[in-house]
Amino acid sequence: MPYYDLRCASCQTAFSVKASIQARSEKSIRCPSCTSTELETVYRQVNILKYRDQNCDTCSGEAPSCAAGGCCGGHCLGQ
Ligand SMILES: [Zn+2]
Repeated sequence: MPYYDLRCASCQTAFSVKASIQARSEKSIRCPSCTSTELETVYRQVNILKYRDQNCDTCSGEAPSCAAGGCCGGHCLGQ
């Protein structure tokens, strides 16, 4: 199940939740603060970096540190 970084559109509470894609699309995830279902997805910097690291241009994702889901930023070779 994917993690979602969400922010409540009503009270601006930001939170992370592990939920199925179905739960997200059906809006069955609720704000822990006010129980609103109007939630915005927050795209954090770390998620953008992780996405890019899936195509590590240093080792093509072959190093164990990259295959585990996160490139170490160019230090994946020679270790
Ligand atoms: Zn809320």
